[in-house]
Amino acid sequence: MKQNTRLIHAGRSKKWTGTAVNPPVVRASTIVFDTMSELKEATRQRGNRVPFYGRRGTQTHFAFQEAMCELEGGAGCALYPCGAAAVSGALLSFLKQGDHLLMVDNAYEPTRGLCDKLLAGLGIETTYYDPLVGAGIVDLIKPNTRVIFLESPGSLTMEVQDIPAICQVAQAHNIITILDNTWASPILCQPFALGVDISIQAATKYIVGHSDVMLGTASATAKHWPQLREHSYLMGYCASADDVYAASRGLRTLGVRLTQHEQSALKVAHWLAARPEVATIRHPAFSDNPGQQFFKRDFTGSNGLFSFVLTQGTAEQVQAFIEGMQHFKMGFSWGGYESLITATMNVQALRTATSWPYSGPLIRLHIGLEDPDDLIADLEQAFLRFATA
Ligand SMILES: *Cc1c(COP(=O)(O)O)cnc(C)c1O
Repeated sequence: MKQNTRLIHAGRSKKWTGTAVNPPVVRASTIVFDTMSELKEATRQRGNRVPFYGRRGTQTHFAFQEAMCELEGGAGCALYPCGAAAVSGALLSFLKQGDHLLMVDNAYEPTRGLCDKLLAGLGIETTYYDPLVGAGIVDLIKPNTRVIFLESPGSLTMEVQDIPAICQVAQAHNIITILDNTWASPILCQPFALGVDISIQAATKYIVGHSDVMLGTASATAKHWPQLREHSYLMGYCASADDVYAASRGLRTLGVRLTQHEQSALKVAHWLAARPEVATIRHPAFSDNPGQQFFKRDFTGSNGLFSFVLTQGTAEQVQAFIEGMQHFKMGFSWGGYESLITATMNVQALRTATSWPYSGPLIRLHIGLEDPDDLIADLEQAFLRFATA
């Protein structure tokens, strides 16, 4: 079955949908049983796609979890109230006091914050590593290294990691690998085939696709699923049936949306690359993007998110660039149908293991589903405001 066909079928077995097309929203805290033996069986399964207690999920959750496993290739999928909770839930499921964590230097900023502010206080030490380290990660491993965390491409600066090389080293040292796979969504990269143990999605982004739901997932190999599932459950992580319903629905159009995001983003990025104000484009599919060879090998396509760096620019000029946009809305996040723009004046302040080679401001764009010619016209006006600010 090809990918767009799989997206239509995933998690839509009759067992979950009944006579409807979509798995219905089943909201529940209490699950009630007719017989002692049914209750006993549900307790034994503990929510393993059998209703047991609301926190363990209902048919709505089971349908989405099954879909995620079909698409990403995991043996099980835990749900969280948002992507940041999936990151903390996955890390805390496998780390304890005295452990050492290797964290990629270009990670999503709240993930860094979790390490520096919360994990450090629990006695878990973090070392940041160069996203391009590859098999060289072996030199950073300590006797107490328990987890290597990857994010590829990094969602701001877009370096692509050599995921299989890092996973191979990790496996040889009995270290768990956790990948924040949000950029790829469940369909542009197959994390478990590359050797990853746990794959995280901020479903908030492309899976939901409409900027109106917060949701996170962490999927695991058969070996690591029981611990991820049990520890996340013990920490009380769960997600609402309504939000999970929206995520299931988002999956059906994910393929066609991503195809359009990809085409439009490439058109805008190529237009930007020809502008004299632009020092570089950070787009995983561009031939000079760091780790581009790994992108070509491990990914089946790109999406609407990329960055570009200006040769120079004051804070006032950047403000003039971003304010007054007609189509690009100013805001964090991405993955919805709408175009977004944000600026980072000092990328170096967000990393500690590597040096950022550019001095100009970085602008990140999410290219939505508008016509790309309108977006280019919007950017053209922005460059005029930039020049005269
Ligand atoms: C948005 C995002 C998250 C966090 O997801 P939320 O649902 O906003 O908590 C984690 N990782 C990456 C790469 C993201 O872009």
